[in-house]
Amino acid sequence: MANRHVALRNPFQPRFAYALEEDAKTIEGQPLLKLIAGDAWESGRYPETLHKLAEKLKRREAFSNLIVPVTIKGKARWWELSASPRSSEDGVFLGFRGVGSDVTEQHESAKKISHLARFDTLTSLPNRLQLTEALGNSLQEAERWRRRCGFFMIDLDRFKAVNDTLGHPVGDRLLAQVAKRMTMIMTENELCGRLGGDEFAVVLKDASDSNYVERLAKRIIETLSKPYEVDQNTLFIGASIGSAVGPADGRTVELLMRSADLALYRSKEDGGNVHHAYQHKLHASAEERRVLEFELRHALERKQLHIEYQPVVEANGDNGIVGFEALLRWNNPKFGLVSPAKFVPIAEEARLIVPMGDFVLRQACVDAMEWPESTKVAVNISVDQLTSPAFIESVISALHDSGLPAWRLELEVTESIFLRDGGHAVQVLDRIRKMGIKLSLDDFGTGYSSLGYLRNIRFDTIKVDRSFVQGAAKSKPESLAIIRAVVALADSLNIATTAEGVETEAELAMIQQLGCNKIQGYYFGRPMVHADSVALFNNPQRSVA
Ligand code: C2E
Ligand code: CA
Ligand code: CA
Repeated sequence: MANRHVALRNPFQPRFAYALEEDAKTIEGQPLLKLIAGDAWESGRYPETLHKLAEKLKRREAFSNLIVPVTIKGKARWWELSASPRSSEDGVFLGFRGVGSDVTEQHESAKKISHLARFDTLTSLPNRLQLTEALGNSLQEAERWRRRCGFFMIDLDRFKAVNDTLGHPVGDRLLAQVAKRMTMIMTENELCGRLGGDEFAVVLKDASDSNYVERLAKRIIETLSKPYEVDQNTLFIGASIGSAVGPADGRTVELLMRSADLALYRSKEDGGNVHHAYQHKLHASAEERRVLEFELRHALERKQLHIEYQPVVEANGDNGIVGFEALLRWNNPKFGLVSPAKFVPIAEEARLIVPMGDFVLRQACVDAMEWPESTKVAVNISVDQLTSPAFIESVISALHDSGLPAWRLELEVTESIFLRDGGHAVQVLDRIRKMGIKLSLDDFGTGYSSLGYLRNIRFDTIKVDRSFVQGAAKSKPESLAIIRAVVALADSLNIATTAEGVETEAELAMIQQLGCNKIQGYYFGRPMVHADSVALFNNPQRSVA
């Protein structure tokens, strides 16, 4: 038994033979590596840990708890080995003595756990942990080679609507399809993963070429915005991207991720489906938002709010004015004129929209009384207003105090009201309609666009979102298809359609051809102060635009 290659010898020898599924005689005198390395023994190409074991044996060094892949009768197993060299009293090396155990099962489950810890179970994509690790590595490499790495934060637009209306299983299958599409775009330079919810991310090892970064972002948005088929539903979602490059936009993983997040916020603020790269001033804009909210709390009492009115005209004939949409304006001494696209969401989050919306409702009814009798006024209503207990009362009082007949008031709601607290909103709208007030479904086509809503509630008008109007004028097949479908459906249900955001003659022609009934857009008139809207009727010579 003096063969120095045999690492484990008596008293473990019989057990070792058993573990190898050989009898003790066969293995006697054979080098350990030959016994356990399988084909690698011949080729000499050992896996790393076996290589380490070979080195230890060669140098006659002790080792403990070394986990090595072994091949026993052609089957891959994992062993954990510990051994130390033994010498005779006069210093002659006798061989190794030690213990070994088969840890295949533990090893497999550890691997599974580490996989679970590093991959998202739903999509099988790398998860947050793995992404942050990869970003950390890329950041180091970028510093070392003096290049840039990149990080994309991606948020799906309107995913929540799908999840809320069709349920989590459908939402989950949609996410799986998103993951598949993402994976297909990635090259060796990128790692994509899921951060959680409907948030995805991409780590770019090398982002030195800003054109490449821009192109990749665009490609992701385009790919993810194509329609999805899930359980016989055709779903439309979009993607917003914020990107940051390291180390310029952040020298640590946390800072870089925060920068990408701020850029993403900017993309969301822009209405989604766009990419924004991080800019230093965005840090300021997060701060700005806090200040805006603070200022907004006093906007009403300080009389900084007023309403502008945008004409809605008939699509055919002489394009006569049928009504106006009331659009809220905020003029703040510090910030100047702030867009409602910016402050309405802040007001909603800060629970200021109910009193503000009340103001719009009351003022719009009063103002509408100065237009000719057939002219309607449309008021945008947020979800929080609809679900606030006093809503119906404030509508009644706005009509009563102004003297406006109910049929001249039109309330515009978006599909989002059905997503939050669906049942209640439907009841409220039903009561509103029974009072003779008109209802419009705003921004149709940008949300989930369920035809189910149209059966639950009798809307008087569907407003087709500006993005489709512009798409249709550019002959985009999807936009054309959506407008055609909406018009056909609305016609069959005896609902009118309004095309939003018509700016050019070409768009007008397209809309007329597609058969929308009403038009709203800069082509016929921008939002204007109340006095100007009244003047339109007093001076018919004056153009609306
Ligand atoms: P919205 O309800 O979709 O209103 C239409 C928006 O499109 C208005 O923007 C209008 O000025 C703009 N627009 C109209 N025609 C054109 C056009 O030809 N080209 C372009 N580029 N834009 C056009 P605005 O006034 O900035 O309002 C933005 C959004 O803010 C509104 O979108 C609405 O969601 C919200 N909002 C405005 N006023 C109120 C309000 O009193 N209450 C609530 N809850 N939301 C409001
Ligand atoms: Ca509207
Ligand atoms: Ca709209």
